Amino acid sequence: MTQPSLIHAIIFDFDDTLIDWSRQIKPYPEIYRFHLENLYTFLSETGHTLPPIETFVQQYQEVVRHAWDEAKIVWAGVNFATVLKTLFRALALDLSQIDIQAAMQAFNWQPVPNVAPFADTHATLQTLKQQGYQLGLITNSMMPMWMRDIELRAYELIDYFDGRLTSGDFGHMKPHPAIYHELLRQLGCRPEQAIFVGDRPANDIAGANDAGMISVLMSPPHVIRDLNGVQPDYTIETLQDLLPILAALEGA
Ligand SMILES: [Mg+2]
Repeated sequence: MTQPSLIHAIIFDFDDTLIDWSRQIKPYPEIYRFHLENLYTFLSETGHTLPPIETFVQQYQEVVRHAWDEAKIVWAGVNFATVLKTLFRALALDLSQIDIQAAMQAFNWQPVPNVAPFADTHATLQTLKQQGYQLGLITNSMMPMWMRDIELRAYELIDYFDGRLTSGDFGHMKPHPAIYHELLRQLGCRPEQAIFVGDRPANDIAGANDAGMISVLMSPPHVIRDLNGVQPDYTIETLQDLLPILAALEGA
């Protein structure tokens, strides 16, 4: 194992950076439907009176949409437990009688069908680990890390990471610099010693630039995004393109 000199850590976004959504064509409501039915069953079986499932699903979508709209004003983090509590209040359920942790478990989050790591995700992460880099992950997700960990485990990616953070757990989302600085703190790494790789210019790249990190825009062929004036330090089409960039940065 060689000791990198200049760059200590590489931090990744999750969706469409490490895992490929190009074959996932279902609309979001359909992806969530199965999980909302699980939650509905859990609430029914624990004695709560519920509206018809269609109303329940519609209410959930409204609560989630509103929570993200509000959060984006100040780049706060949408928190799944808070979303569920808001939903349950809107449905006039007795919150004191609901175990939120059990409700999240009952939701039974799973890898999304037809989503999988890119062909070079494992090989690239493995090479970076072997080269001695610390690896991190920051995702704008309302879910707590333990829920996204279900996916990381299923994809056999979890062991590569020295630190992981969801905006739902932390309370700020990308591009707020605080979420980058928190993971850098956990990794014991200064911003200029770290690279951030992500597919969304307005979130991943703008935030990494503001946080003082080296930014790499992941731009796989199926992802078309407007830069809107955001300037990444590097752009790659596939993860293994990181390796020559790192070699150049290290002066190899
Ligand atoms: Mg992404």
